[in-house]
Amino acid sequence: MLGRLQAVVVVVAVAIPLVTAKRAHDLPPPIGVQVGHEVHYVPPDTLFGDLVRKLHLHARNGSLFDVTGKVLRPAEYPGRILLNGRVVRKAQLLADGDEIRVLNGHDQTEPRVRQVIALPGNVFANPQFYLTSAPGEEIVTKGKISGKVVGSEIRNTGPETTPNAVALTFDDGPSPLYTPQILNILEHFGVKATFFTIGFQVEEHPDLIRAELDAGMVVGNHSWSHPESPPFRELPPNRMRHEMLKATAAIRGAGGDPFVFRPPGGTFDEHEVAVASSLGLRVVIWAVDPEDWRNDAKANEIVDNVLSHVDAGDIIVMHDGGGYQDATVAALPKIIRGIRAMGLGFVTLTR
Ligand code: ZN
Repeated sequence: MLGRLQAVVVVVAVAIPLVTAKRAHDLPPPIGVQVGHEVHYVPPDTLFGDLVRKLHLHARNGSLFDVTGKVLRPAEYPGRILLNGRVVRKAQLLADGDEIRVLNGHDQTEPRVRQVIALPGNVFANPQFYLTSAPGEEIVTKGKISGKVVGSEIRNTGPETTPNAVALTFDDGPSPLYTPQILNILEHFGVKATFFTIGFQVEEHPDLIRAELDAGMVVGNHSWSHPESPPFRELPPNRMRHEMLKATAAIRGAGGDPFVFRPPGGTFDEHEVAVASSLGLRVVIWAVDPEDWRNDAKANEIVDNVLSHVDAGDIIVMHDGGGYQDATVAALPKIIRGIRAMGLGFVTLTR
């Protein structure tokens, strides 16, 4: 401090004769202060705070954001205005050659952490199409401070196993005409299957849902109204949720508790899987589609289609509603016998 005052005194002593030659005697010579790339000349009694105010200098504050982009801690990283590289009081007297720098605080995002969760049972290797599963773990990525989850990924940690079985599934019921016939055949052969039911039909025929449940079948969710255009995965998110929720409510009203969802038309993407998952539903499509929904489908063609394509672990789609399913009813006993002849059993879908 003393050294700087002496330096000022020396500068002033040298400057006076030059200035007095041109200017009034009582005006002290200005001092030069570097602000950014410019030098500002101010009276020698100027305080640091005065110049900051006069030049409207302002340092922006940086905030800490969470992983989703919301402010977690506002102004966590304050901006600073430095004099000669140091934080000083506003009342600090400026000296010739001083340098003022504005340092803005930078926005930052909280760090991400990865958490590995061992999963108790097996997880499906290809959950939408096959019954194949493997031991697995879930890797969750979240904000270190907020705990908000930004991603989750399930990874296999061991060898895949495929059951010596297939899953028969029936869509577009319940139908008072076809569902009882299909149930009779399944019960006759001792086969358990999964029914993807349409919500508004469930509400009309809750007795058929109870019959399915009593026979040990699994009742899944096939949307409330079976919207087909646009494709289900392109529905606005609210409509998609509504279709899933309302069907689940109808099935619960009939005594079921759906945990699998099949979109009408079988269209799905990551977003749809996430919406379904948030409602406790696993999206399941199929591996084998014998196209029994065609009005001109023949029973023997349906049988051939299934038996020539089916393999252990496959999910097979057929229909107990939605059209003329007489061919499906006629084909079903032959399909069951044929699959059994291949040494395969029948399972229902699981969570
Ligand atoms: Zn359908």
